[in-house]
Amino acid sequence: MEDPAVLIPTSVAEAIESFGAGGDIAIIGGGTILVPEIRLGHARPSRALMLHGAGLAGISREGTRTTIGAMTPLSALSSLGEPIAAAVSNIADLEIRGQGTVGGNLCAQNTDAPRGDLQGVLIALGATVRSVGAGGERSEPAETFLPGRADRLVLDVSFDAPAAGAYAYLDRAHTHEYTALAVTAVRTADGTIRLGANGAGPHGLRLPSAEAAAADPSAAGVAALADVQLFDDAIASAWYREKTLPVLVRRALEQLKETA
Ligand SMILES: Cc1cc2nc3c(=O)[nH]c(=O)nc-3n(C[C@H](O)[C@H](O)[C@H](O)COP(=O)(O)OP(=O)(O)OC[C@H]3O[C@@H](n4cnc5c(N)ncnc54)[C@H](O)[C@@H]3O)c2cc1C
Repeated sequence: MEDPAVLIPTSVAEAIESFGAGGDIAIIGGGTILVPEIRLGHARPSRALMLHGAGLAGISREGTRTTIGAMTPLSALSSLGEPIAAAVSNIADLEIRGQGTVGGNLCAQNTDAPRGDLQGVLIALGATVRSVGAGGERSEPAETFLPGRADRLVLDVSFDAPAAGAYAYLDRAHTHEYTALAVTAVRTADGTIRLGANGAGPHGLRLPSAEAAAADPSAAGVAALADVQLFDDAIASAWYREKTLPVLVRRALEQLKETA
């Protein structure tokens, strides 16, 4: 196998130009997923785009709007308040959170386990993802972005400060364990309840049926089963996810109510 040609852009404009319309090019954020896959020969790109010097890291605020650059390490998100803080503190350990990036988490593919815990969180926050690729720059809701994420270069994500947020997940003792299932509940500034789930489909999913029943947390939990595509993987069965999803939806909504 030939080594991939390595591209190291030194500005956002250069990164966009190097990525072009995508195709046979691997974007390397923190590399916590992709570098082992390349080394083991599971991924064989002809070009690798390393973003560490492209100027895509950082968190900025304008009024109530927060924007997070794609190369921002997960560890920098712990001061952002709920539900992001709770979700991030449950990802892996300090080393992985210091190395893994927001763009990498958003674009992580579920192979043997769910690996993009921020996906459901950003859906619940109503976040906008700004990306480039074929057709140029696009800004779209996280839930619309996720199904086609494989061929986009993420520049940043942004969202309005929520009134409150809650995160409920299947707790496992080992810090290296992936999150089998998690639910995020958000009350937006105008009082709307939004729900996102991770580990309940091929990527993070919004839970519209559960949102419609949100006034009754138990009923919302049952309703959520209509919104998901449950699966077996290395860390949980579809059966187990079906039993626990209603509980997590109820818990997240009850936590949210406590903040009212
Ligand atoms: C021991 C261990 C435990 C882990 N535990 C968890 C966990 O609990 N929860 C969890 O969510 N994850 C976990 N992970 C997975 C991973 O570390 C995180 O998801 C991390 O955020 C990935 O970010 P990265 O920058 O390292 O991604 P990379 O490996 O750089 O990339 C991952 C994917 O995203 C793409 N990508 C990267 N940046 C961009 C961009 N800007 N635009 C478009 N595509 C991009 C890459 O091409 C690749 O397909 C764990 C990993 C390890 C090794």
